[in-house]
Amino acid sequence: MAKVVKVLIQRLTLLLGLRDEFLCDSCKLNYRDLCMRRERPNARICPDYRKK
Ligand code: SF4
Repeated sequence: MAKVVKVLIQRLTLLLGLRDEFLCDSCKLNYRDLCMRRERPNARICPDYRKK
């Protein structure tokens, strides 16, 4: 449930133009051995995002 809310907030901030950078830039999982997502390092929406 928390992941759904997180993704909704990410979509909203993108739609409203409040954010234009990639989420991966500020994610603590932004390392090849920690994140296997294909979107990395250019994810704009990610349910696994964890702020540094
Ligand atoms: S978890 Fe998501 S936001 Fe974090 S590095 Fe991986 S793809 Fe990027």
